[in-house]
Amino acid sequence: PTVLVTGISGFVGSHVTWKLLQSGFSVRGTVRSDAKAEQVRTALSGIVNTEKLSIIAVPDMSVDSAFDLAVEKIDFVVHTASPFFYSGVTNASADLVDPALNGVLSLLRSCAKSSVKRVVITSSIGALRCVTPTLPEGLSEVDWNLASINTFRELGPETPAPVAYHASKTLAEKAAWDFVQSTNPTFDLVVINPPIIFGPIIHPCASPSQLNTSVKMVADFYLHNTKEIDPLAAAGCIDVRDVARAHVLALTTPRASGQRILISSGPFTQEMLVKVLEKHFPGRPYPSGFTIAVPIPEVTTKAALILGITEYISLENMIVDTVWNLKNSFNI
Ligand code: NDP
Repeated sequence: PTVLVTGISGFVGSHVTWKLLQSGFSVRGTVRSDAKAEQVRTALSGIVNTEKLSIIAVPDMSVDSAFDLAVEKIDFVVHTASPFFYSGVTNASADLVDPALNGVLSLLRSCAKSSVKRVVITSSIGALRCVTPTLPEGLSEVDWNLASINTFRELGPETPAPVAYHASKTLAEKAAWDFVQSTNPTFDLVVINPPIIFGPIIHPCASPSQLNTSVKMVADFYLHNTKEIDPLAAAGCIDVRDVARAHVLALTTPRASGQRILISSGPFTQEMLVKVLEKHFPGRPYPSGFTIAVPIPEVTTKAALILGITEYISLENMIVDTVWNLKNSFNI
């Protein structure tokens, strides 16, 4: 079978592609430019046989019918492409929310005209809960981050980037479920909701300053670009290799049909991250500070029951692997 992976140039998209190729699938990846296509091919050919990989440019995924060519003769789709950055956001609607929302709708409309059997979407824990945890009783797939949508409706383009990013994920995921419910297409939908993702990068990246948002957090603590622990930053965490595994299982597991599935290795705070750095990479100037917010427990029963995922790479291991990967990649 052939899988279309959107956002193949990204941290998650490249790992999903790697895992799919390793598992024997043919992969067609989307990028925004031909130059990116070459960089991705070069990066992946260093670690996996890319004979079954083709790459297609979709310059603007928001445009209607943008994916019509890309989905031709495709069996499954994994949709990872979505803007995830906070710095440089000048208009929360145009930079974050519109591309996420229009991108998913454009993709699903193209899939509905094709032979695609299943679409797996990378959503986020951000579609389930607010930036600062407020649900002491625990978090599961029944929760929706309505607060971020409300703030975005109120503030529009002025919405602070982290809230707008969460709104973009919530609105895009909601739109996908609504699309499936209202049009009853020939494909079915599975949604994966990961918390913050760490782990080694395999996608093209020229320097630590250009890293994707989540891995950059680790690099910034390691390089002392971040001078303070955010006392309110509390979430779950997961290794990108577990995320890739979950996406492949979501494609191949029949009973995953119609499910949104939270995957998480366990709690995460910046204080916990710094403790791991101090233990394994001592002698560097890490910030001290405490976390006030308590990470809420995440209920990953569905991931175990439906996808059979019962073990995850630990926070300690994923951070150590991330730093070694950064040291080797950028000589830092
Ligand atoms: P990256 O920034 O590394 O990758 C994002 C990918 O999406 C890139 O391929 C990028 O293409 C593409 N993309 C971004 N904006 C657009 C756009 N407007 N039009 C078309 N393509 C676009 O981030 P991640 O790999 O971390 O994120 C992948 C997915 O995982 C996203 O959906 C994100 O919301 C989700 N996620 C990530 C988490 C994390 O901690 N990393 C946590 C939970 C969910 P290009 O290379 O051209 O910029």
